[in-house]
Amino acid sequence: MKKVVKFGGSSLASAEQFVKVGDIIHADAERRYVIPSAPGKRFSDDTKVTDMLYDCYHLAETGKEFKKELAAISERYQEIIDGLSLGISLKDEFKTIEKNFKEKVGENYAASRGEYLNGIIMAAYLGYEFIDAAEVIRFTDEGEFDSEYTNQILGQRLNGVERAVIPGFYGAYGDGRVKTFSRGGSDITGSIVARAVKADVYENWTDVSGFLVADPRIIENPEGIETITYRELRELSYMGASVLHEDAIFPVRREGIPINIRNTNQPSDEGTWIVESTCQKSKYVITGIAGKRGFCSVNIEKAMMNAEIGFGRKVLQAFEDNGISFEHVPSGIDTMTVFVHQDEFIDKEQKVVSAIHRLADPDSVDIEADLALIAVVGRGMKSTRGTAGRIFSALAHVNVNVKMIDQGSSELNIIIGVANDDFETAIKAIYDIFVIAQL
Ligand code: ASP
Repeated sequence: MKKVVKFGGSSLASAEQFVKVGDIIHADAERRYVIPSAPGKRFSDDTKVTDMLYDCYHLAETGKEFKKELAAISERYQEIIDGLSLGISLKDEFKTIEKNFKEKVGENYAASRGEYLNGIIMAAYLGYEFIDAAEVIRFTDEGEFDSEYTNQILGQRLNGVERAVIPGFYGAYGDGRVKTFSRGGSDITGSIVARAVKADVYENWTDVSGFLVADPRIIENPEGIETITYRELRELSYMGASVLHEDAIFPVRREGIPINIRNTNQPSDEGTWIVESTCQKSKYVITGIAGKRGFCSVNIEKAMMNAEIGFGRKVLQAFEDNGISFEHVPSGIDTMTVFVHQDEFIDKEQKVVSAIHRLADPDSVDIEADLALIAVVGRGMKSTRGTAGRIFSALAHVNVNVKMIDQGSSELNIIIGVANDDFETAIKAIYDIFVIAQL
């Protein structure tokens, strides 16, 4: 068995956290490839090292003095080295970083140093080989992650390497210039390494015990999710549940490698398993509920719309021409509604409305603002009758008016539109009927 283990920033924020991580790795000999993030926050209003690096580099880039800021970053690492009583020094590394900052080598390089330095410490602490991600994770000249080439060179490099530390978050172009993934991208590195070594499991260690059925800011102490499929996770994540970087599922998904989200501070918790498919029934009919406020609906009416070929395309063209993406498009026989993000739409609304008139010649266009969308997701819904009925009677019971209903064709999710003000009440009602009532 081979396990790839990724540890997030809060799991590596201090020497104390490093010790927990070391214990986790040593507890299982199969945990052979380790992907560290940069040190994160030690307490709630602390600053992540990655943010310190961005700030420091911006000073350097604008020709300002940055010695003090760089020293503060160096101190964060020194504190960890001292706390672990390691005999290594990062002095030369910081000299190189200072020189490169003065030469303005770029923000990507700057940000990547957080993971790079933490990787050096981690490798020394574990006694594992250190492999610089710049050598094995490759981007194309256009800045896209080069998945196949990376898989080849990384697979070759790790072949015969029993144990290694590979820093997360970055790689390099063919000419050696460093390039980072988007924020939170160490999750992607872990997934890439898991694919390259054909791992049995990709363990992603963070500061929560996996995914929760609902947002803990709305539901007090929500139940955890034991197993979720990649598809269900996509349906929930696009509505805003972020424990794992969205792009992290793609490399492992194509190899059928499961991801196990675990909690560094509570290592005995099973966490959440993310899998391709499963015959494990979820504990409840629904796997999770997620949602977002801040949508607008644009209702377009035209008599005989259903008989007019190309009507939908013309309407959507008006949104595309103005650079606006849509979330949902429920329709009726003479109506079509387009749900968009209010903050993206608000400045362009009149342009869009006139474009709809010009392109599609509707009878009327009516905008409604301050709406929320709620996704109720579950692989169990397909085989359970009455799910939609239960959702809507629960909402009626708490006096929530449903503005829109959309059941995805996969029968994996039901999307409900309600007023922003009803958002929390609606989520509580759905949680109560499917979870609390089943306990
Ligand atoms: N350190 C980077 C960030 O803060 C990447 C990561 O932690 O995954 O976004």
